[in-house]
Amino acid sequence: MDLGLKGRVAIVAAASKGLGRAAAEEFAKEGCEVAICARTAANLERTANEIGKANNRAVFWRAVDVTKPEAVRAFVEEVDKKYGRIDICVTNAGGPPAKKFLDISLEDWRAAVELTLLSNVYFAREVLPRMQRNHWGRLLTITSVSVKQPIDGLLLSNTLRAGVAGLAKTLANEFGADGITVNNVCPGFTLTDRLEELVELRAKDAGISREQAIKNMSAQVPAGRLAQPEEFAALVTFLASERASYINGTTIAVDGGLVKGLL
Ligand code: NAD
Repeated sequence: MDLGLKGRVAIVAAASKGLGRAAAEEFAKEGCEVAICARTAANLERTANEIGKANNRAVFWRAVDVTKPEAVRAFVEEVDKKYGRIDICVTNAGGPPAKKFLDISLEDWRAAVELTLLSNVYFAREVLPRMQRNHWGRLLTITSVSVKQPIDGLLLSNTLRAGVAGLAKTLANEFGADGITVNNVCPGFTLTDRLEELVELRAKDAGISREQAIKNMSAQVPAGRLAQPEEFAALVTFLASERASYINGTTIAVDGGLVKGLL
């Protein structure tokens, strides 16, 4: 299937590693102009060079903290100036800390709102008017299966990602007539550094080894294993493509069947 992504301009936020990086790699393979950001310049530059080299194209990068609206605006403006438009934007960020309710300070709450909810708003505010002008756009928010089924120990994520799903669905309604789709992708347990943190936490809480914690996690998944980041990135790439033109306002899990609900 030709995804029709060649030459499209794709921003992927928080993409120095993990799920963001995997999405950026797929876009580069499909022939997109790719622009990535994350906080630490050194890691990001290495990632951009590796993706660029593997795909014989330059990957644009800037060190941006996605909790800073001015920095997000400057990044999007720079990408727009360089490539002349923004077609695709994947909003992503690091996960909020895994803490129990009584251990979460108000400062933790405010920081998590900035990171997990508002970072999506900052990107949406910048990219949607630009997509509207071209009557074409794909906005993809990355959340978690926690929007379908809360995950034990991830209270901040469980609470704030539901807000992102509400944001994405409402934006899909508001911008659908502009040739823009907005969809929300929910990774399940996927092998990245973030998952390692969760594994360590579960191992510590249960007094078991890391290997046993991974086995226990895998056992919850009908697929019987954890996901590779590329399996998540494949859906993101498809939803960003020309072929997904009538898929709008959905929240889709890439979780090997982990979520037990019907929808
Ligand atoms: P990761 O920790 O491997 O990578 C996170 C990326 O975000 C890194 O590039 C990091 O530099 C960047 N980042 C963090 N804070 C940032 C900030 N303030 N500004 C800019 N960049 C920032 O995580 P991941 O596994 O790739 O997960 C991505 C998102 O998906 C997270 O929110 C995570 O909680 C969520 N998620 C992951 C899984 C999983 O199993 N991996 C499952 C469900 C949800």
